[in-house]
Amino acid sequence: MVAEIISVGTELLLGNTVNTNAAYLAEQCARLGICVYYQSVVGDNEERLAATIRLALGRSDVVFLGGGLGPTEDDLTKETAAKLFGHALVEDEHTRKRIAAYFERIGREATENNWKQALVPEQAIILDNENGSAPGLIMEEGEKTLILLPGPPMEMIPMFQGGVFPYLSDKVGEAIVSKVLKICQVGESRVEQELKDLIHGCENPTIATYAKTGEVTVRVTARAKTESEAKKLIKPYVRQIKFRFGRNIYTTDEQVELEDAVAALLKQQNLTFTTVESCTGGLLAGRLVNVPGISGVFKQGYVTYSNKAKRRLVGVKKDTLTANGAVSEKTAREMAKGAALRAGCDMAVAVTGIAGPDGGTPEKPVGLVYIACSLRGKVTVRKCQFFGSRRKIRESAVSAALALMRDCILENFEL
Ligand code: AMP
Ligand code: MG
Repeated sequence: MVAEIISVGTELLLGNTVNTNAAYLAEQCARLGICVYYQSVVGDNEERLAATIRLALGRSDVVFLGGGLGPTEDDLTKETAAKLFGHALVEDEHTRKRIAAYFERIGREATENNWKQALVPEQAIILDNENGSAPGLIMEEGEKTLILLPGPPMEMIPMFQGGVFPYLSDKVGEAIVSKVLKICQVGESRVEQELKDLIHGCENPTIATYAKTGEVTVRVTARAKTESEAKKLIKPYVRQIKFRFGRNIYTTDEQVELEDAVAALLKQQNLTFTTVESCTGGLLAGRLVNVPGISGVFKQGYVTYSNKAKRRLVGVKKDTLTANGAVSEKTAREMAKGAALRAGCDMAVAVTGIAGPDGGTPEKPVGLVYIACSLRGKVTVRKCQFFGSRRKIRESAVSAALALMRDCILENFEL
């Protein structure tokens, strides 16, 4: 099966909005085993949109149309698609009610043009929008399928997962099951190297790796006649990957981020903690505060950017700073120890480093970061060397600090 993605919107053409929807849809098609040979972007213009859809229908089985389903004059995707297929637009009672309920829920009056969104092409499959007013639509004509999706990603993605993915996997005639394993403290090239035999040695399941700062996700995807057969195909590979990366795998749940995994351990062991940050300037505390319910274990954080703050707020010794500098093992150690003591917490995590672009020396280059974790008085320090922009270095330091917190808990409690 061949699919094609048309993204509709002048804001995309002008570069004001980044076309993240096309990337998402392309990735999902790959998961479904559907080939994508073309993607295009077209402005809010009926003639050019019609020509683009016609071209796509001539060479693809399934055509995604993203955006242009809104209530305003320039939203004309549905009208153009219906005209091309010769399907009339009729009011859908269910959608009208859902739109009324949606506006009631968000406490706003629907405007007259919102009701335009209750008009749907005859015979279309309607995809309810849980996060907005415009419904998604699947239109079939002969062998060809048009799938119309709303532009805002927070509306499009849940709709795709809930309605389009099952529709397409049914159409493909196979069950597709995938499992992710998220790995921290191992770079993408090493993950690939370690999995080379598995990645190149098999087609079903497929094994793919994706990197983001400080971690790598491995996705194992299998297709089979039934879901349970697909699951069976995945199982030995997941077991093998777990065996190869062991404790560095922090979750096999797609929704769980590294901070969630660390927070779960802290809560499980009932450990209170504090953060003391120099080069990350609160970024570590910020990431941990992403986790709902963190207040049960997070007491306070320190941003000790200057030497004076390191001395005053967490009691780093003047001599330590003079003899070793702010970016040193000893300073990191004293920051963690001092913070744990002053905040009265079981655990303290300290970060001190050179984020750049200036301030590096041959002995202490840009990207050098010391991370210390004090757990009930026992301090572990890690020296890290990161690369890239100031932002990248700071984000890498945060991921490494989370990984160190995790390691200290796992080791201490022999988990
Ligand atoms: P629309 O459905 O055309 O009214 O689009 C509404 C909003 O969704 C736009 O203003 C963009 O912010 C966003 N949007 C539309 N298309 C895309 C896309 N392909 N990728 C990411 N965001 C998009
Ligand atoms: Mg638009």
